[in-house]
Amino acid sequence: MDRSLIAELRAACGEEHILVDRHALRAYESDGLLQYAVVPRAAVLPGSAEAVVAVVRACRDHGVPWVARGSGSGLSGGALPVAEGVLIVLSRLRRILEVDLEDQRVVCEPGVTNVAISAAVGPTHFYPPDPSSQIVCSIGGNVAENSGGAHCFKYGFTTNYVTGLEVVLPDATVVQLGGREADLPGYDLHGVFVGSEGTLGIATKVTLRVVPAPESVRTLVAFFDSPAAAGQAVSEIVAAGVVPGAIELMDRLSIDASEQMAAAGWPRDAGAALLVELDGPASELEARFGEVTSICELARSREVRVARDAAERDVFWKMRKAAFPAMGRISPHYYVQDSVIPRTRLAEVLSRIDELAAEAGLRVANVFHAGDGNLHPLVCYDGAVPGEAERAERLAGEIVLACVRAGGSITGEHGVGVDKKRYMPSMFEEPDLAAFQSLRCAFDPTGLANPGKVMPTPRLCGEVPGPYRRHPLEAAGLAERM
Ligand SMILES: Cc1cc2nc3c(=O)[nH]c(=O)nc-3n(C[C@H](O)[C@H](O)[C@H](O)COP(=O)(O)OP(=O)(O)OC[C@H]3O[C@@H](n4cnc5c(N)ncnc54)[C@H](O)[C@@H]3O)c2cc1C
Repeated sequence: MDRSLIAELRAACGEEHILVDRHALRAYESDGLLQYAVVPRAAVLPGSAEAVVAVVRACRDHGVPWVARGSGSGLSGGALPVAEGVLIVLSRLRRILEVDLEDQRVVCEPGVTNVAISAAVGPTHFYPPDPSSQIVCSIGGNVAENSGGAHCFKYGFTTNYVTGLEVVLPDATVVQLGGREADLPGYDLHGVFVGSEGTLGIATKVTLRVVPAPESVRTLVAFFDSPAAAGQAVSEIVAAGVVPGAIELMDRLSIDASEQMAAAGWPRDAGAALLVELDGPASELEARFGEVTSICELARSREVRVARDAAERDVFWKMRKAAFPAMGRISPHYYVQDSVIPRTRLAEVLSRIDELAAEAGLRVANVFHAGDGNLHPLVCYDGAVPGEAERAERLAGEIVLACVRAGGSITGEHGVGVDKKRYMPSMFEEPDLAAFQSLRCAFDPTGLANPGKVMPTPRLCGEVPGPYRRHPLEAAGLAERM
């Protein structure tokens, strides 16, 4: 890498906020998807939006690719560095700039953690999208991945809560997309940016909508003999017109793993645990809660436990949120999969996952946002056993394709990144992918922002599949081909 570029990065971020030593850089070689690792040429930690602009400008001038990184908790390799590129780490930008409870808006820098938003507006308000990684993951990462969480069935995803963004485009210009209003005239460009996985620019300021905290919350866990039986209860709860704040399902393997970490005293021989949380006005909640309890009992739940107080509710949630990290207690390695299926196909897809796991000779734990049909199969393997990691990766891929065949999607909330891009053609036709590429090129014509992610085949801007066709504007003499 050009020395003058390093000097410019140093000038932008300060001597102590640039890493070029290979050993130091290894801390940044992966995100939460450890199966991929690339050491970047340099990592910078800018301390202001102006410093981000200077870094992006320097990369633009030297034609060097860059990758934005928040907290590095992504699970699809979105923040995986590029070997000859610069990693732009936004974790120093962690100021909450404004809290306006009357207008229900918070303005913050991208490195602020998800949980810090609710902490800043509580106890009267909260920020609903709540990834299980919320203690560490950043708002910038949430925006880029359109992150979800347990409360998204009722409340919606990140995209429903971002009203405005300040973005540094790959040509180093700064633009405002959206604002504080719920809607603005013109194209919904902040909507485009949410979920763009770092390929369109870097968010340096985010305006979020927060909502009043519910008057009352009640939580129960119901144990069933199988995930299919619990899934049936989910369908019946939703069909009864109840909209739970959260409705989460864990199978036996994930109960076992979480018990080893959170020790809630849940029965380890239960086939499934269904965690249901209702929130809203206390008067309405009581009746609805009784209805949910009855539905679970009628669906042959073997036991329903109601959280008696906030402390017990926390224990229930600890069990659910421990599910990913607790996998380490039952398996040396695991691969997190993230797919969506129509809720009605739950039983069928879960039994297909069981069949695929048996064929591969591997265990798969299932823990998921049941209301959204957002599965998280956790493929367990031992990387020390020759060939097992490859088998696990193959199995994870077969699970994704089984979900697509059932009318679902290759990802629910973890993004495409580097991991899922090979499955994009299973969901999209070539013209659809070409439309994505045109959009990307409109923001990033030189292809320096997070290259090699999301799109299945790298393509240069201006490269169009199929033979050249004369554009109607060219034919009319209104545009020229350069
Ligand atoms: C234990 C665990 C549980 C999880 N649970 C959930 C869950 O329930 N729901 C869920 O949705 N996800 C979950 N995740 C995944 C992950 O936490 C989210 O995707 C999160 O939003 C990533 O945020 P981050 O700051 O770590 O981003 P990173 O991993 O650093 O980056 C993610 C992507 O965002 C881009 N990016 C980062 N900052 C910016 C910025 N300022 N501007 C533009 N692009 C940017 C990066 O280039 C990359 O493409 C979980 C992860 C773990 C490890």
